Formats: sequence, C-alpha cells, structure tokens
Amino acid sequence: MASKKEHMRKRKAKEQRPVEQPEAAEAAGAEAERRPFFPGLDLNSLDLLSYPAAKPGETAETEESETEPAAESAIADAASDAADAAAEAARREAEEAAAALRAEEARIAEETRRAAEAEARRLVEEAAEKARREAEEAEAAAAAEKARLEAEAAEVARKAEEARLAAEAEAAALARKAEEARKLAEEEERRRREAVAAAEAAKKAAEEEQRRADEEAARKRSEQEAAERARKMAEEAERTRQMAEAVAAARKEAEETERALRVRAETEREEQARRAEEMAAKAEEFRTAADRLQRDREELLAPPPPLEITTPPWEKPPEIFDVLSGAPHGSAAGTGAAPEYATAAANDAVLPVSMAEPRTDISAPPPGAFADSLTEWRDDTATAEDSYMVPPEKRMYIVMVTPEVAPCAKVGGLGDVILGLGRELMKRGHGVEVICPMYSNMRYDLIDDLHEEYAELWCPHNAEWRAEKVFQGKVGGSLQVNFITGGAYTERPDIYGYDDDLQRFTYFSRQALEFMYKTNRRPDIIHCHDWATGLVPPIYWDIYEKLGWNNSRFVYTIHNNECQGLCGFGDKLLGLVGLDVKDYHRPDRMQDDAHKNCINMMKAGIVYSNFVTTVSPTYAGELKTAAGGRGLQTTLAKHSAKIGGVLNGLDYDVWNPQTDDKLAARYSVGEDFYEKYKNKTELRNRLGMWDAWKPMIGVVTRLTHQKGLDLIKHAIYSTQKMQTQFVLLGSAPDPKVNDDFLRMQYELRDNHDINLYIGYNEDISRLIYAGCDMFLVPSMYEPCGLTQMISLRYGTVPIVRETGGLVDTVFDLDNSGRGLNDANGYTFRDPTPLSLDYGLERAVRLWYDNPEAFNRLARNGMRCDYSWRKPSEHYENIYQYIKA
Ligand code: ADP
Repeated sequence: MASKKEHMRKRKAKEQRPVEQPEAAEAAGAEAERRPFFPGLDLNSLDLLSYPAAKPGETAETEESETEPAAESAIADAASDAADAAAEAARREAEEAAAALRAEEARIAEETRRAAEAEARRLVEEAAEKARREAEEAEAAAAAEKARLEAEAAEVARKAEEARLAAEAEAAALARKAEEARKLAEEEERRRREAVAAAEAAKKAAEEEQRRADEEAARKRSEQEAAERARKMAEEAERTRQMAEAVAAARKEAEETERALRVRAETEREEQARRAEEMAAKAEEFRTAADRLQRDREELLAPPPPLEITTPPWEKPPEIFDVLSGAPHGSAAGTGAAPEYATAAANDAVLPVSMAEPRTDISAPPPGAFADSLTEWRDDTATAEDSYMVPPEKRMYIVMVTPEVAPCAKVGGLGDVILGLGRELMKRGHGVEVICPMYSNMRYDLIDDLHEEYAELWCPHNAEWRAEKVFQGKVGGSLQVNFITGGAYTERPDIYGYDDDLQRFTYFSRQALEFMYKTNRRPDIIHCHDWATGLVPPIYWDIYEKLGWNNSRFVYTIHNNECQGLCGFGDKLLGLVGLDVKDYHRPDRMQDDAHKNCINMMKAGIVYSNFVTTVSPTYAGELKTAAGGRGLQTTLAKHSAKIGGVLNGLDYDVWNPQTDDKLAARYSVGEDFYEKYKNKTELRNRLGMWDAWKPMIGVVTRLTHQKGLDLIKHAIYSTQKMQTQFVLLGSAPDPKVNDDFLRMQYELRDNHDINLYIGYNEDISRLIYAGCDMFLVPSMYEPCGLTQMISLRYGTVPIVRETGGLVDTVFDLDNSGRGLNDANGYTFRDPTPLSLDYGLERAVRLWYDNPEAFNRLARNGMRCDYSWRKPSEHYENIYQYIKA
C-alpha cells in the first residue's frame, strides 16, 4: 500500500513538472551558451578579429595624402602598383582564408548540429526509457492493488453468503416455531370449545337444580309463614292479657300521684307566698336604690356655677375641609394661626370648652383632677408651640371610646391611632380623654400615675346591675385614659378571640356611656372605633339623650371591616344593655344586609354616627365595592354623604430614629444618616445572622390572611435567590398559622441569611425598622397600614402591594412618575409571587447597582411627613362640622 502511495506521489510530482520546465529549459539554454560550440574548440581563441577591418579604398586615401606630388610620383606609382599587387594578393589571400574559414565554420556547424541531434536523440531516448519504466512500475502497482481489492471483495462476498445462509436457517427455525405455535393455538382453541360445551352443560344442570331448590324453598316458606302467624296470634293474646294488668296498675298509681300532687301544690302555694313577700321587700330596696341614683343624677345634672368666657378676637369662620374630595388642607382653622392665639389661650380660663353658648355648662369637664391636669398641661405647652394651637373658641372636648390604646393595650394599628391622634389633638389645644376596658393582661408598666378614679360604676347587665371600678392613668406621657374593669369579661389573657366577645364589648359600650353620664362628662365629640364600640351611638341616642344629655355628637372610624360584630341573637345582645331588638332589627338600622337574621354592630356605628371615617382615602373607595365592603357596601353607599377617608398618621414622637433608645445608633436624614448601618450590624448580632455584604429585607406583621401569608412565605425563599438577607417578626392569632411558621423556622435554623422571629417584640421591631435596607408589606388588603410609614420614617425603603393606605403613602420609583426626587419606595400590583418578585428585584438591583440612588430613595422617605399634624386637622374639621 505504501509503495502504491509513493508511486502516486511521484506521478503527481511528475505531472506538476511542466510548470518547472521553462526554468529548466532556460537553465539548459544558458548552459548551452556557456558550453563551446564544438567540444575542444574555443572560438574566442580564433584570431578572426585581427584581420584588417578597413576597406581598401580607405587605406589608398591615407597613403596618397602622404606622397610628394612631383619627384616621387614614379616611385609612388611603382609603389602603388606594388602595393596594389600586394593588396590584390592580400585580398585574394584573405578571400581564400575567408573561404577556408567559412568552409571550416560550415563543417563545424554541421558537426555541431549532428552532435546536438545525437545528444537530443539520446536525451529523448533516456526520457522515454524512464517513462516506460515508471509506467511499468505503476502498472505493476495497479495490478497488485486490483488483486488485493478483488481478494477483499471475495472475502465480503463469502461473508455475505454465510450471513444469507445463517438468515435462511434462522427463518426456517422461526417458521418451524410459528408452525408449532399455530398448532398449539389450534389445540388450545379445541380444548376451549370443549370446556365451553362442558360449562354450558353444567349451567343447564345447575339451573335445573336451582329450579328444584326454589320449589322446595317456596314450600318451606309457606310452612314457616303459617307457623309465624300462629306464634304472633299467641303473642297478641299474651300482650292483651299484660295490658289489662298494666291498666289496672296505672289506675292505682294515678290515684296515688293525684294524692301526692295535691299535697305538693299545697306546699308550693305556701312557698310562693313567702317568696312574694321577699320580692316585695327587695323591690322596695331597689326602689330606694333607684331613688338614691336619681338623686345622684339630679345632683350631677345641676348646672355648675356660670363660666366666665373670654371671647377671643377671632372672627374667621371655620372652613370645613372636604374630606371626601381629598383636597389639600389649605387654610383650615388653626393652620398658620395668628399670634393672637397665644393671648387668647392665655386668657382662656377654662379648658376644654365649646364656645356655643347653650352648651358651655355641660361640655366643661367635671371639677377635679381631670380639669386640673388639663389646665396644667395647657400651661406647659402654651409657650412651646402656640401658633400650632387653635383659638379657645374652637377647642373641643373629645372622648375616644376604644377597645385598644397603645402602648399598654395594643393588638395592631388601632392602638397606635388612639395614642397618636389623641396626643396631637391635645397639642392643638383640645381636651382629650380615652375610655378603654381594663384588661388584666395589659402592660401596666407603661401606664403612668394609675389610680382609682371611680369606685362603684353601677351598670345594667341583663336584668341586674353590676358594679365595676374605673382607674385612670396616663399613656405616652400625657394622654389620659380611663380604664373600666369588666369582671370576668376583662380578666383574660388576650384582648380578642373569645366566644363572648360580642357581649364583652357591648357591655363595655354601655359602661363607657354610663361612666361619662355619672361623672357628668359631656363631650362635644365621642369618637368610636371599629365594631367593638359600634353600639355606643345607638345606646346614647336611645337611653342617654332621653335623660337630657344631648350635646354630644359621634364620629365612627372603620379601621378594618374584616370583623363587623355580626350577631345572630340580637335580642339577647341588645337586651344585655337595655335596648329592644324590635326597634333595631330592621334593614335601615342594625340588620345585616346579607345575613338577615343577624344584627351588625359595625352597621350600627355607621347608621347612628354623625360622621364616619375610614383610615385612608383609597380604603374609603374600596369599601364602596362589593369586594371591599364585605356586605356593608349598600349601607355605606346610602350614607355616603357622611363618609370620608382620613389617612392615619404616625406618632412622630414615639417613632423617631433620632431619639429611639432601642436603637444601637440614632440617626437622621442629615449627615449622620449612615449611622443607620450600625443598627444593621446590631440586628444581625442579635438574631445570629451572617455579617455579609447583602441588603437586608424586613417584615413586621400580624401573621393573618390579610397580611399576605403566602406572599410572605414566597418572599422568604425568593429573596435568597436575589442575594439578600431576610428577617420576619410576626405573631399569629391562629395557632395553626403559628405552628406553620414555627416549622419553617425550624427548617431554616441553619440558614444564617434568614431569621424568622415568631412572636411579638417591640424592641426587635424597632431594630428591624432601623436596621433593614428594605421593608416588605405584601398585604391582600390594607386599610391604612402603619408599618410602611414607620419604615419610611426610619429610612428603610418600603416595597408594598398597591392596596388601601399603601397606595396613599408609597410612591414607586419607576412607575409613579415621580422619579428620584420624589419617589420613596417600590410598589407591585397583583397579589401574586410574580408581581411581588417584580417589586423586590427592582429594589435589590438598585441596592447593588446604584447605592447612591438607593440611599437617596431612603432619605426621600425620611423627608415625607406622615405625622398626625395633617390628619388631626382633618379630624378637627370633621368634629367642628358635626358638633352641636
Ligand atoms: P394592623 O393594625 O392591621 O395589625 P398596622 O400596620 O396598622 O397593622 O399596625 C401594626 C402595628 O403593630 C405596627 O406598629 C407594628 O410595628 C406592630 N406589630 C405588628 N406585629 C408585631 C410584632 N410581631 N411585634 C412587634 N410589633 C408588631
């Protein structure tokens, strides 16, 4: 094979040679030029060029010029002849020589030609010989190759033949097997047919047997029936005999019973007479007590000494802010106040007081500690922020009736609202008090100056009167709260979540009014909150207004309509506090719009209040839809003229990163902003998390469906893919949800980028607000939401779902059209993992890609004003609008 290749290679080289030939020919030509024409003859050595070249004429001329013209002419002639002869001889000689030379040249040329021809012939022959040899070699190689290929082909053919034979043998074997299988199948079919025939025969035999058995059974049955009939007749006869015996015995017993009843009736008649005497004595006792109460009441109602009121030089009428339109506050009463306010406040001797003349007597607080404290308070703050205070004639006496108050009895945002709004209204010069149940599980350490205020608050409970106590204390440094005990109703480990919650808070509603009535508190405004205090307005109008207390007006705030206080036993609930269900179980009053057999406490609050607010403008809009209204939308639509949304505020004294003593480092929006990151380190240390260069995302929430449980779970895992750390602080009222998150906490115990803190802890919550870079609020719905406002205040960028108050407070960097100057966070629209990730990813990307822009966004949030300043002005205008 190698030799064949070599051969091919040589052939190829040969084929290529014509390209080289011109050079070879040229070289050969040059060589030929260099070679002597004849071998052994050097042409250059021939002295051909030494022959004279001149022409004969030229030589004569030269000699003529040198001859003397006269004397020497004969000599000259002779010489000339001789010369001519010589020349002639020379010429002949030269011609001969030339002829000889030409002959010699011709001979040499002839020889040369012959030699060249011989040489050429020799070269041609050599080349031909070489070509022939190569051709022979190639032929031999081709022959060898052909032989080898033929051998290979023969081998392949042999193998193919073998394979064909093997396949034929195989096919024959398969055919044999198929034939055997066919025969077996035929055999099987034959057997099956035989078996079918046998089964057919057996079936026929069985049918015959069955028919015979049926005949036998029918015969036996008829025999048994006859026997049964005989037995029953015997039993009937026995029963008849026994009945006759029983009738005789019963007759005897009846006679005895009649005798005993006669005796017992006699005894009971005597007992009843004795009880009637006792009850008459008790009634007399109650009458005496009622007289005493009536006397007390009259005493309390007696007009106090006339008040001296200085009318301030303030003539501008109050401008009612249209809450419904959401227009900016503008020049509502109290803003941009004139310096006269200070003088007016200083001159005003009595606080709080409504300036409407006929009511000055009843809107003054009762004499004693409360009035003193208000006066003291007025003196303390009068110099601090005078221009912020409203003039005395616009000051009102406001009482909040609520199931929660922060920080001592707080479940969620409602408690914070009471504290924040109450304190802000006080700063503006109003007299504010709170009435709240005295729960046994409260944070008593957060109440200042707690003391007993009223020893025996008698209040009707069903058909009896119960006495409870009222304690008074201050929360948040200045807000006065009256805590009313409720016996078994308030001595519980939790604030809500009991089967008798409806009764508990209904009784509290009556207690609150009874307390105000007995202590001669006559507020201008009674502000009630959520379903728990929805019955306060109807109880007032039904009972207390008729007693002459008629100056108070009601504002009712819906913080969350998920729980509305639906009651299927309205007669008992309303009867508990002295209302008649017949007056209220009507579609235009308390009857629930969807569940016709129920009364609805929230609906009572809406229908019987002078103004209804919700905690954000967007939530006010959502409540009018079927999804948001949860059955209340019809009632809300009917009363829409008195409904508005006022965005909750945040207590900027309580939530302030510059003064928060729970933080590792305090900071503000200014130069010291970067101190914030010390809190991140502290948070990590406290929770045992890695110190990694990653953004930290926080969540602080009640773990309920409203707060988007599934989205929170999704975020825990999806944020890991985004290279972040995640911390959740949450507590679940539902034990199942709690267990679910505890299980997750256990599963993630070794992941130091995630921390799930299941429980309620305000200190940790503050560290989260300050230490995180981002704060997530993925609520399904959110009436207002405080956590996003707190995170804004602490320079933590909120990522929220677009619902309720979240829409009113967080403005997306990319989609709100505000840009980096005005946006303060990220929002996402749908309650889906995809939408949530859209919000998260954008925030995380900005943190990694553009830290400067991220910090700017965080600081924009800190500059937002979500304090109670504006909302309290809105409330103030509403109060002014409705007050009597
Ligand atoms: P809601 O009233 O619906 O629970 P908000 O956002 O209006 O929700 O208010 C929640 C308030 O409760 C915030 O002040 C928040 O800091 C606080 N909070 C909620 N859960 C916890 C918790 N587990 N630990 C500490 N504070 C909590």
